[in-house]
Amino acid sequence: MLATTSPISYRQLPLRLYQIGPKFRDELKTRFGLMRAKEFLMKDMYSFDVSEEKAGETYAIVSAAYDRLFKQLEVPFVKVNAATGMMGGSVSHEYHYISPVGEDTLLQCSSCGFAGNSEVLDVKPESPVSCPSCKGSDLKEVRGVEVAHTFVLGDKYSKPLGATFLNTSGKPQSLVMGCYGIGITRVIAAALEVLSSEQELYWPCLLAPYDVCLIGPKQGSKEQSAAELIENELLSKVGKLCGHQELLHDDRKELTIGKRLLEAKRLGHPLTIVVGAKAAQQDSPLLEVHLSKGEKLELDINEALKLVAEHSQHKKNLLNCSFLQDKEEYISQSAGQQH
Ligand SMILES: [Zn+2]
Repeated sequence: MLATTSPISYRQLPLRLYQIGPKFRDELKTRFGLMRAKEFLMKDMYSFDVSEEKAGETYAIVSAAYDRLFKQLEVPFVKVNAATGMMGGSVSHEYHYISPVGEDTLLQCSSCGFAGNSEVLDVKPESPVSCPSCKGSDLKEVRGVEVAHTFVLGDKYSKPLGATFLNTSGKPQSLVMGCYGIGITRVIAAALEVLSSEQELYWPCLLAPYDVCLIGPKQGSKEQSAAELIENELLSKVGKLCGHQELLHDDRKELTIGKRLLEAKRLGHPLTIVVGAKAAQQDSPLLEVHLSKGEKLELDINEALKLVAEHSQHKKNLLNCSFLQDKEEYISQSAGQQH
């Protein structure tokens, strides 16, 4: 598009264009649901700069944003130097989740966690490689699922296509490009694959469809009326703490608690609160609170509300990136480490 419009001015740069949309691939071996499918959702961005140096600055800024995003998702990830062969260009990194179902082979250092793509580390069968980061020698092969990729493309595409801008002296000059992608559906599938067990889903905090699931007493049970008073109190108080759109109220009272709890566990809500028989105890009503990873607690109402509040606070902290001790410093650090 930038090759066919009249040349833009250096004043309009940097230009960063992104889109989020479905992609189609004639995949012969579809596997693992959303992990390798014929249709998937992708965020891709192309950047246009006046020089290699400016493209490098853009690369640092976008890489820092990607690093933040993957930290916010709280799924362990590794960032590896990538081979730039197919797409050309000079600098490139891949973001991987480590999982046995991954299709890429990575070498990971057991001392410092550094990981590299085996093509890039130039592994020869006879000579053992050492870790480029800590010089340790204990590198083991792991499988990685690629979830994002960043490239500086240089003028590899802009030159042949004639995509230029007018420089300060009014002369046309090739745009210097970068390309950045996140496999959105794959992030979701791979995150669930990494975190979940056969019995239960486990969501990254920020991706869970709901924060809390509330299950009330069964219709016609002897605890129904007493427990419903507490259920209603929780509906309003939990909703206020985490936001009503984050609270899933399973009000299918014709179903047993056990049946609804089983479904809630399969959906992997971070917190599931059950208002059952023990909630009808007059002196000390107790709730069953199920956390992800099979943990179960018996709590009174205030303790349960405290857990909800803590969860909401953790989510807010993630959204604010408060896990970064010094946001400015973090961004300038990432700007320095392009290799
Ligand atoms: Zn190391």
